[in-house]
Amino acid sequence: MISENSSKALYLYIINELAPVYGEKESRQMGKLLMEALFGLSFEKVLIDEKIKGDLNPMDDLKSKLDLLKKHTPIQYVLGKAHFYGREFIVTPDVLIPRQETEELVREVITDNPDGDLKILDIGTGSGCIGITLALEMRHPRITLLDVSRKAIEVAFENATKFGVEADYIIDDILTMTHFPEKYHIIVSNPPYVREGEKIWMQSNVLDHEPGQALFVSDDDPLLFYRKILGLADGGLFPGGSIYFEINEYYGDEMVKLCEKAGCSCIRLMQDIHGKDRFIKARFN
Ligand code: GLN
Repeated sequence: MISENSSKALYLYIINELAPVYGEKESRQMGKLLMEALFGLSFEKVLIDEKIKGDLNPMDDLKSKLDLLKKHTPIQYVLGKAHFYGREFIVTPDVLIPRQETEELVREVITDNPDGDLKILDIGTGSGCIGITLALEMRHPRITLLDVSRKAIEVAFENATKFGVEADYIIDDILTMTHFPEKYHIIVSNPPYVREGEKIWMQSNVLDHEPGQALFVSDDDPLLFYRKILGLADGGLFPGGSIYFEINEYYGDEMVKLCEKAGCSCIRLMQDIHGKDRFIKARFN
């Protein structure tokens, strides 16, 4: 049994519970995050053993969170938040946890497009992290967030509200859409691109907890979403409009060909920080 309100004892208890599953180092990281999120105590406060305040028994909540973590639930879902581009976004298991690579994609859109008042469509928005970050970092763009999942759009709406961003929302399946409701200057998308066959290399935290609908495509037609989006973009973009994709690292060359076939110009394949083909940008004239 741990002492009533000793933060240090609680922190050590957390590490002890998680270490068999995650090892020492990762458990310490998780311990810090849990102490901060559940008790509002920074690691500095834990080190000096600041007492835990409040008359609620913190153990119930903590124990249920530890149980989730032991089942490999990503800590972002357990705490309901994830960092993206320096901000804390709300996440639920209905949306993908924002990835670092996607921050690189967002940065590319921001640096390429200094003009104000651009209309931007984020396809497969999930938590809304791409579109909302663009809304916050660019010069008053008008953003539209599209997702097939109503629950994802609800999360995106919550995030937009949290950051005071006004957006339009579309709940629809891009694969069956025949046109967009209006024209845009920029279309950005991180659609599902992991082939079913790649599942064997994936960890249970992703495989068993993140929404498969946001991740996987069939091995037979892995570029399905890109083909469809490029088809709609031709006519759905203002002349000179651009498209930005996050892509599967194994399909860089094929993606370039797909963009050429779709009639794009200024096609650029870009690598992520790990040197993998990860992004494509192109124009429609
Ligand atoms: N990069 C993500 C992953 O590796 C996949 C994102 C996606 O499918 N769009 O899990």
